[in-house]
Amino acid sequence: MQKSTDSISHLPGSSRRTFLKSTSVSVAGAALLPLLFQVPLTAAHHAGTKPMGIALVGLGNYAMKQLAPALQQTKNCKLAGLVSGTPEKKEKYGKQYSISDENIYSYETFDQIADNKDIDIVYVVLPNSMHKEYVIRASKAGKHVISEKPLGINAAECEDMIRVCKENGVSLNVGYRLHFDPNHQEIIRMAKEKPFGDVTYVHSEFSFPIGDPTQWRLRKALAGGGAVYDIGVYCIQAARYATGEEPIAITAQEYKTDFDKFAEVDETVTFQLEFPSGVISNSTTSYNARANRLFVSYRNRGTALIEPAYSYGGIKGSVNGKLMGYEPVNQQAKHMDAVSKSILEGTDSTVSGQEGLLDMKVVDALYKSLASGGARTEIG
Ligand code: NAD
Repeated sequence: MQKSTDSISHLPGSSRRTFLKSTSVSVAGAALLPLLFQVPLTAAHHAGTKPMGIALVGLGNYAMKQLAPALQQTKNCKLAGLVSGTPEKKEKYGKQYSISDENIYSYETFDQIADNKDIDIVYVVLPNSMHKEYVIRASKAGKHVISEKPLGINAAECEDMIRVCKENGVSLNVGYRLHFDPNHQEIIRMAKEKPFGDVTYVHSEFSFPIGDPTQWRLRKALAGGGAVYDIGVYCIQAARYATGEEPIAITAQEYKTDFDKFAEVDETVTFQLEFPSGVISNSTTSYNARANRLFVSYRNRGTALIEPAYSYGGIKGSVNGKLMGYEPVNQQAKHMDAVSKSILEGTDSTVSGQEGLLDMKVVDALYKSLASGGARTEIG
């Protein structure tokens, strides 16, 4: 199979020392959990300083080439379980990561994870349309959850997931790893602290040629849609955190060159978001091009550029042409450590289910705009 988004670039060596300095778990915070969630202590409510156990569901590219290796570098969590429908994968990865048989599940036996005290967090890394089912099953098993992006295939699904996780007193998070990259964190800081004044314009694009025509990313039933669902969500996320505002309306245009390959899903989509302050963002996402950048313009002679912006490593940010110069980080390790820390301390997650929901509201409006021939569509 051709490389997908998910292998856009090679993961760099992480700067473990820098990383360890930036995180620490409060033991006292763990004791607050039952109060915050208003539910009795369960396996999900991990007390003490022991790293939280994460079970990966779906042992494909992202899970086994990025997340499992990253979990060897985390401090607040560790790989504790595997869920797969393929016996060979269970055997191979179970051995490789020394996971005992009791912590390895099939999709059929998955719900028994409720009785497993080693597993605190379930990380769903399945095709997009399967996220909802496994998030809900995990939360009913009393486990905290991380779901890969997009959180669901529409806003209604995300709302259901958020509601069920709340009912079960567990935390719901999305796999938005770029919140933990220092270049993107600088863009977020600039939106808040305005060193160059207000944001006046954002340009964000993420595209790559998709390759293998038989893969699930090109099947609507599994993917939800095409480039928009897979990589366009990064552009939406970035436009939201680069402005620090929630978009109110969208216009979108779709282009197709290969009607067989993209019979079920979108190939290339451009879209413009309108924000309450009047700032706009312009984005392109395509399965038939190469682009990977975030550009932000500020009122007082300031510009920021991150290129590449959305890869796993090699992220390069500059402000007014001067390199930001951050050390590379392991985004996935930082992401999972931060989620675990927020659960242990009972604090808000930076990448909560709500973030996934807000992006899917934009995606819903985007497809409405496309269906109406590109009309301005309010985001609701
Ligand atoms: P993949 O195809 O490599 O892995 C998917 C896994 O799901 C495989 O192990 C496959 O066996 C399993 N699976 C179970 N039922 C399936 C079915 N009916 N059809 C197809 N596969 C099935 O995909 P991936 O690249 O690992 O993507 C998985 C999820 O992770 C997607 O939601 C994707 O958007 C997300 N992802 C996120 C990032 C990121 O940077 N945050 C990167 C890559 C992928």
